[in-house]
Amino acid sequence: MEIRLPEKVSFIIDSLKKAGHEAYAVGGCVRDSVLGREPQDWDITTSARPDQVKAVFRHTIDTGIQHGTVTVLLDREGFEVTTYRIDGAYEDARHPKDVVFTASLPEDLKRRDFTINAMAYNEDAGFVDAFDGLGDIERGVIRCVGNPEDRFGEDALRMLRAVRFAAQLGFRLDEDTRAAILRLAGNLKKISAERIQAELVKLLVSPHPEEILSVYETGMADVILPEFSAMMRTPQQNPHHCGTVGMHTIRSLREVPPDRVLRLTMLFHDVAKPVCARRDENGIDHFHGHPQKGAEMTGQILRRLKFDNDTIAKVKALVRAHDDRPYPVTERNVRRSMYRNGEAQYPALFAVKRADILAQSDYLRREKLDHLAEYEAVYHQIVEKQQCLSLRDLAVSGSDLIAQGMTPGREIGSALEAMLQEVLEHPEMNEREALLEWFRHQ
Ligand code: ATP
Ligand code: MG
Repeated sequence: MEIRLPEKVSFIIDSLKKAGHEAYAVGGCVRDSVLGREPQDWDITTSARPDQVKAVFRHTIDTGIQHGTVTVLLDREGFEVTTYRIDGAYEDARHPKDVVFTASLPEDLKRRDFTINAMAYNEDAGFVDAFDGLGDIERGVIRCVGNPEDRFGEDALRMLRAVRFAAQLGFRLDEDTRAAILRLAGNLKKISAERIQAELVKLLVSPHPEEILSVYETGMADVILPEFSAMMRTPQQNPHHCGTVGMHTIRSLREVPPDRVLRLTMLFHDVAKPVCARRDENGIDHFHGHPQKGAEMTGQILRRLKFDNDTIAKVKALVRAHDDRPYPVTERNVRRSMYRNGEAQYPALFAVKRADILAQSDYLRREKLDHLAEYEAVYHQIVEKQQCLSLRDLAVSGSDLIAQGMTPGREIGSALEAMLQEVLEHPEMNEREALLEWFRHQ
């Protein structure tokens, strides 16, 4: 088998060779090329020390000199070139104490996490595949390089990475690798929220978000996402559902496009059900108030995982709105929903609601989908007519009221709010003179 290296990658490898060093493409780019996936970036590994790399190329950046990484710039495109290295003893399941450069490629490949990520390639040597990464690609297996317990003991994040790669590639975890995660999952508490967030998002937006089940089954969720474990343990005795809150959540993940905000919303849309559950005298479970409480919990979880404010706001708003059902579906009721939920939640909210329905039992499914289609149709009518749904679109502004002699202050706010409520009931009233006239008679 051969890999077509991009021209610039071949150029870097050849230049290093001409200067008397070894150099290979390595890691994710080799794995993805074999799989026919487009590599995200091309990493190069070399026997040359960082100062020797810098001597070969005109433009370089010291990206991580202490770890042996120099970025080579070719026409403003950057390529990370890293010296063969051995990671020293690991401290507290996170960081190697020190790194040692080596002249041996096999030593460098040994420090990598999984066999499929531990292959190197160049045009002269072909594949350097000491741990049968090609075989594991063929078998569809995520397997640690060396002893899994040792490797997860060195860096606990690798346990979550294992499941993330399984989800991205549609692979399964090797038995020993899985067993080691079951034993060492607790070590994940030592890993920073930022690193966990990055792996969790990659897992969620992958083609197999249902792999989140492995995060629960291996005990990792108890450490990084106990709220999800609680969902997996919460039954739903209710005709609308089949299976636990967690299993419904997993099914719903598969029903939305692989978008970060949508997948996070599905993961958390029912997060408050375990705390809101009440079983009635007929043995039926109810979850009153779970969207509101869920939005609150979602905010706490996403902040804990160090997500940015924009993402937190979007996901919270969708969780809060996910169960919203204007009934009957009149223009007035849909306008009120849009006002309550915020126009910005649309049309993403429809994708969320649809996924939620499709992940429920098939009881009344036709009716639920029909209702959603009506809701969506009326929403489009309202958008088309450009009806006013917020103060921003109101035909009267605060300065209009001041010009009418009102004193600036809270009074103006409540006057505008009253006019907005009137306009939500009667859109034709969104006209300056008519509104001011209406207000004078209040
Ligand atoms: P992608 O970039 O598509 O997420 P990748 O395999 O390139 O996947 P990176 O995190 O970019 O993953 O890391 C590049 C390479 O570095 C990996 O292929 C692997 O060989 C090695 N590596 C990365 N993180 C670790 C780790 N925590 N432990 C051991 N090796 C690692
Ligand atoms: Mg990469």
